[in-house]
Parts: sequence; C-alpha cells; structure tokens
Amino acid sequence: MKLRVFNIQYYSLHDGAGIRTVIFLKGCPLRCRWCCNPESQHPAPELFFSKKKCIGYDICGLCAAACHAGAIKRGADGTLSIDRSRNAGGCTGADGAFPCAAACPSKALEVKGREMTIDEILAAACREEIFYHHGGGGLTLSGGEPLMQGEALVALLREAKRLRLNTAMETCGFGDYALLKEAARYLDALFFDIKSTDEAKHLEWTGASNQKILENYAALRAGFPALSITARTPVIPGFNDTPEELERIRAAAACGAASGCIHELLPYHRLGEWKYEALGRRCLI
Ligand code: SF4
Ligand code: SF4
Repeated sequence: MKLRVFNIQYYSLHDGAGIRTVIFLKGCPLRCRWCCNPESQHPAPELFFSKKKCIGYDICGLCAAACHAGAIKRGADGTLSIDRSRNAGGCTGADGAFPCAAACPSKALEVKGREMTIDEILAAACREEIFYHHGGGGLTLSGGEPLMQGEALVALLREAKRLRLNTAMETCGFGDYALLKEAARYLDALFFDIKSTDEAKHLEWTGASNQKILENYAALRAGFPALSITARTPVIPGFNDTPEELERIRAAAACGAASGCIHELLPYHRLGEWKYEALGRRCLI
C-alpha cells in the first residue's frame, strides 16, 4: 500500500508531544483561502518553481531543453515562463519525475508529491527513534488531509502502533466517519480543526460545509473519551476573528478541565503566500 507524501519534517516540536517526525500527506478536500501549504491540496504531483533559486534561462535553460511539451519558455524577467496547461498531466516520465525538474541543477524546479510505501514512511520515522524516548515523541501525520489516503492511512497507523511508535494526526475533520473512527483506534493524539460554526461562511472560505466536520467531531468525542484531542482554530481576519464567533467555536469545541480536551487558537500568518506563485496560482486572501 502506498500513500502520497509531499514533505517529511524531522525534529518538529509543534505537532504533538516531544520531538516528532511529521509526514505531510498530499490531497485535501478543502480549499481554505488562507492555506499556507497550497502544495498540499491537489492529490497529484505538481511542479513547483522557486524563482529565487533559478540561475537564469539564458545561463542555464536545461529545463526547457528537457521539456518534451514545449511548456517552458524564457520569461520577461530572464527566469522562466511555464505554460502549465502544457505540462499538466502527460509530463511525468515512467519514473514519475518531471524531466524539467530532474534536469534542474539548482532545485529551482521541484516536484511536490510522491508515492511512498508504508515501509518507506516507517523507515523515515524510525530513523529518528532515539529522539522520541524522552518527552513522548513519535510520528505525526499531517497534510493536506490524511483521511484522503483511505485505508492506506489506517494500515500505516496500525503498523506504526505495532512498532510501538507514539502516533498523532492533524485533520480538518472533513471525511468519512468510519475511516476516522478506524484511524482513531491507532492514535495517541488527534488535532482536529474547528474553523467556524457558520455554515455559509465556512462554505465560502473553505469550499466545504462544516456540517460533516462538526458531526464527526461530536461523534469522535463521544466514541473516544480517552483519546487526547486538541481542537484547533486558525484565527483568520474577516472570517472568524470576532469575539462572538470565537465564543461559538469555543462552545462547539466543548473543551475544559474535566473533558481532557484542549482548545487552541492558532495565529494567522502569510508565510506560505509565495508558494502560490511557485505553483502558478493566485493567493485568495
Ligand atoms: S534548469 Fe533550473 S536553474 Fe536552470 S533555468 Fe531551469 S529552473 Fe532555472
Ligand atoms: S484544511 Fe488545511 S491543508 Fe486543507 S486547504 Fe485548509 S488549510 Fe489547507
């Protein structure tokens, strides 16, 4: 079984207890306007162009020479102009690599997203095992949305538990409850986003209704009282940053000393804005 991965982050201190290895899984059912990982959203591999790293079309140009589709031309500023309608699909070679990215000496062109087997993911996580022993560190699955990986996600978590790894998962909560329930059986901690209680606003800003998310959250809290759950709310200007809305979210999260659940507010930042340009997209916020 394989999962689609777009990044692996070692030594993370912010995604669960202790020192963790975070596996970022590709594909998300939401399209949050503020998303700081836009490369996480589409399930398929994508070409990512970091302009700052490009040596220059006139000096190098190896990517254009390698491109079979004529998708790369000289841009007005001397770097690249990429016609993504030409290199979308059909551009990957037999090994799944975009030839232009393979030819790029400076990694200005990269492919975001690759399939990894469960064994490969666990080997990456176990490589750091020595750091997990103090502070309860381990493996965190993030995204994108891990539930988009279907049964492979459950199989990965089951195998991680068999290896006695501490497991955590970050979810937007939008997915099949049967799958979420299966995954929860193998989790030590779950970070569950509650972004807004206003359905129309949620639909407008994330592209999806919040009903399934709120139902899944309530069902999970009831079904897994012993699971460590952190409800998380990114505070987004103009979306959910009023005291009234934050109070409604706090009430929906229903956390408190007796519940064993924690509600966290996450600050808004624009650190991922440049990535939209690298993917040939426009940031919507
Ligand atoms: S191969 Fe890489 S460094 Fe060379 S022109 Fe293309 S993107 Fe720039
Ligand atoms: S749920 Fe997370 S990964 Fe998905 S679009 Fe929203 S911010 Fe991005």
